[in-house]
Amino acid sequence: MILQVYITVNHQNQQKQSRNIAIYPQKFLIRLTFLLWLGKMKVFYIDFTFKKLKGLYMKKLSLPPTERRRLTRNQIYQYIYKAPGCSKQEIADSLNFSMPTVHQNLNELTQAGLVRIDGVGESTGGRRPLQLTINENAHFSVGISVTDDHFRIIAANLRLDEIAYQKYPHPHCNNMKEMGNFLAADLENFLNRFGLNREKLLGVGIALPAIFNADRTCVVAAPTLNLRDQSIRPLICSIPYPVSVCNDATSGGYAEWYVQQDSDCMAYISLEGGVGGAILMNGVPYTGLNGRSGEFGHICVQPEGLSCKCGLRGCLEAYCSSDRISTDLGISVEQFFAGLEAGNLAYQTLWKDYLRHLASALATIRMVFDCRIVLGGYVAQYLTPFLKELRGLTASRDPFDEEAEYISLCHYPKHAVPLGAALHFINLFVEEL
Ligand SMILES: [Zn+2]
Repeated sequence: MILQVYITVNHQNQQKQSRNIAIYPQKFLIRLTFLLWLGKMKVFYIDFTFKKLKGLYMKKLSLPPTERRRLTRNQIYQYIYKAPGCSKQEIADSLNFSMPTVHQNLNELTQAGLVRIDGVGESTGGRRPLQLTINENAHFSVGISVTDDHFRIIAANLRLDEIAYQKYPHPHCNNMKEMGNFLAADLENFLNRFGLNREKLLGVGIALPAIFNADRTCVVAAPTLNLRDQSIRPLICSIPYPVSVCNDATSGGYAEWYVQQDSDCMAYISLEGGVGGAILMNGVPYTGLNGRSGEFGHICVQPEGLSCKCGLRGCLEAYCSSDRISTDLGISVEQFFAGLEAGNLAYQTLWKDYLRHLASALATIRMVFDCRIVLGGYVAQYLTPFLKELRGLTASRDPFDEEAEYISLCHYPKHAVPLGAALHFINLFVEEL
């Protein structure tokens, strides 16, 4: 994996040092920015590439490993990560390692606080085997979902379990530098408020409702933030921790794929104020030629239909955004579904129209990708009672499937986006350890 590194040295009037890393996983591009304030106003750029970022998270392990030893240790760690409760013998048998090799690596991982014993298993004749698991709280990652008026900040442990969450209002940001300044202040408040140890922080994932350029260094358009053609560098440089920036719906899909890793390809649709989504192939987002893959909200479901924010008519977003069943009616989404349950006829008519157009888009997506479809976003938490009807409506538009059981509801209806943003650094840690 080739990593590209940028180092920025910025001399100002204070003795401080910080480091930022922007990670673009699809291209395996890592960008480092070092900021040094040494007393003079000068800026230097140093740009170079190297083949492997070694040792980033290894400082707590006792011995600097050779690459081969690191790979062995990483295989053992990943095995325990994926099979919690496994025994030493299972590891040795599955990975074809000798018991002394397994024993030595486990000692190092245990001493580094990365693996722990989680009980004893059933005896198969001899001594009862120790059950091993990773120490999920050895590190944590932060994910941030950005909307036009709020930052939703979450901290997740190595199992992507939520350990802290807070929503912060913010004024309109005219550019990425302003956003970075607000975000940096709220992030520090968040870490302090929940007493989170910065030494355990792997990085900060930031999910924006935006379309990026091909190398993801620039926001091409973010209509809901009212921003266009903005470099993300000022945002990254505002945060004194490793930073990753990505699209919000892709983040949501990434989190869902993590908990449901049972298919090669998955389409994720986020039903919120905007309707977006992502296509994930083996956990990797397919972004398309222009970074616009998964913009399901602008599939035409009704030619010459309702006006969409994009300027066209008949888009899925015009029919299935949460605004249609809340803001446009002057009520909350909760009130809409309460009214629906109470038998409000106007709501029932509107909801039937919502489901009909959603089914049309789902059938189209299935026809194109022939994959599982996960419905996420804020509205998805209310869809359980309507899933059978939605599957039926979709199947009636699908000549190849009578049940449409490929449609399922998300695992994280509320915090998928910030969790997915946090997941970038968790995966990086597990893969690079
Ligand atoms: Zn549209």
